[in-house]
Amino acid sequence: MSTASPDCLFCKILTGDIAADVIYESDTAIAFRDINPKAPTHVLIIPRKHIATINDIGEDDHSIVGSLYAAAREIAADEGIANDGYRAVMNCNAAAGQTVFHIHLHLLGGRELGWPPG
Ligand code: 5GP
Ligand code: ZN
Repeated sequence: MSTASPDCLFCKILTGDIAADVIYESDTAIAFRDINPKAPTHVLIIPRKHIATINDIGEDDHSIVGSLYAAAREIAADEGIANDGYRAVMNCNAAAGQTVFHIHLHLLGGRELGWPPG
């Protein structure tokens, strides 16, 4: 399933070329703490497969994307935020604020989260 993209920051975290605080690993996904956290818990959950944006998710990728949510559920429980509540959100392209073009689920919690987001 290795599809590393040479200039992709998150592919470099997957290969270990760039360090990250990795807190979860499965066959299809890893998760690590955001370097610039926007909440007491701010974890990024990424597929091992390089997929640039939600628009690039293929029919064959559905179980991979589902596994990101399975990771979110597990990490939220481990972080103690499952019952109070948390947000799992993925930005797509520039207008939504996507800056790293390897899909990632933001898992945010540990404080009250406003809605709608800005
Ligand atoms: P986006 O804006 O693309 O939805 O989210 C990208 C996220 O990646 C941001 O929240 C940003 O703080 C985080 N980020 C950017 N570079 C790094 C890095 O080198 N390491 C880690 N752990 N997070 C990063
Ligand atoms: Zn990548």
